[in-house]
Amino acid sequence: MDKQTVRDVTWAGKRALVRVDFNVPLDGTKITDDTRIRAALPTIRYLLEHGARVVLMSHLGRPKGARNPKYSLQPVAFHLTGLLHDVAVSFVHDCVGPDAEEAVRSLGPGEVLVLENLRFHPGEEKNDPAFAQQLARLGDVYVNDAFGAAHRAHASTYGVAKLLPAVAGFLMEKEITVMGQALANPERPFVAVIGGAKVSDKLPVLQHLLPKVDTLIIGGGMANTFLAAQGHELGKSLVEPDVFDTARSFLGEAQALGRQVLLPADLVVADRLAADAAFSVCGVDAVPADGMAVDIGPATLARYQEAVRQARTVVWNGPMGVFEVAPFAKGTVGIAEAMAEVHGVTIVGGGDSVAAVEQAGLANRMTHVSTGGGASLEFLEGKQLPGVVALLDKA
Ligand code: ADP
Ligand code: MG
Repeated sequence: MDKQTVRDVTWAGKRALVRVDFNVPLDGTKITDDTRIRAALPTIRYLLEHGARVVLMSHLGRPKGARNPKYSLQPVAFHLTGLLHDVAVSFVHDCVGPDAEEAVRSLGPGEVLVLENLRFHPGEEKNDPAFAQQLARLGDVYVNDAFGAAHRAHASTYGVAKLLPAVAGFLMEKEITVMGQALANPERPFVAVIGGAKVSDKLPVLQHLLPKVDTLIIGGGMANTFLAAQGHELGKSLVEPDVFDTARSFLGEAQALGRQVLLPADLVVADRLAADAAFSVCGVDAVPADGMAVDIGPATLARYQEAVRQARTVVWNGPMGVFEVAPFAKGTVGIAEAMAEVHGVTIVGGGDSVAAVEQAGLANRMTHVSTGGGASLEFLEGKQLPGVVALLDKA
């Protein structure tokens, strides 16, 4: 990675102002999944071991610029105390202003302070310069470990990085290095699996990956649009007629580049979107007029799994079907299972794809499961993430 990291700083006595992604799911004040908090621990521990005073800031939910106890980070601070046992962790009820500044002043080396939700202030999402200035008063060096928020140019991800020396944390470094390597210098065959609901959402990803991959596998609702653009009748399936032309020219481009694109040959078709719906398997030419395609069919899955198993690099974004409805999760789970067997690099990015892999209990069988939904999608689109751009370049 061409950006400086926490390893490039001498920390003793310094205040590390660390942007983390503690946007965890809550049930009241109970944290139902602490993956994101655990993901930040290596950076926090490193800073503590090197004598820094650690000030942590994050957003949680969408309080839209106003104080709302429902989105307080206090339960997160409490949970962090449990994870860090012998470290003093304190919490302050605001992320800027006199109380926050006083709390930072009384922080000793090797101690942690958690600031209240950044988004209680409208200046955060507006990247207000005055708000960024207030944040900058709380640290000597800025660390960004919130990959999941790196696609946003907010005060805590972008503005403050312009005011303090700014470096990456370990999670940020890992996300960028693993995904960056896979795209820039993949071991081949390189297979990308792209699914999800809409072609229009995923066109930038498809276009960015096409020249890099050997094989592109298309599934999910998106595949319907490609099939319909080729002239197949898809009944009541989700299709986007306004991108038929785009879909056809994309397939033409793939052919011109000599890239293999796999589309479904059979589909699971249901009469409605419910766990108790009637469903059947049919070829792409035999979708009933009142049926909707909700998953890839078994023959398609077998073909896709074979392509995945032969790969040395697999990048996956977007489920193969409506996996939230149990009977229609087979294609998605099947891809995850094939990826788990790959001898090589396997990467899953995207909110729903990651949820599906975790639901299938296969997350720990992947090389990398990205912690950023929107951020990983933008990374796969080849976009520069503002939160990364703002960090100091390696000397
Ligand atoms: P990610 O969050 O991983 O980037 P997307 O948000 O693009 O993925 O797509 C996930 C959504 O796509 C899921 O809610 C899933 O139900 C939907 N989806 C997948 N296949 C179909 C289909 N055949 N018809 C309708 N929706 C689908
Ligand atoms: Mg999604």
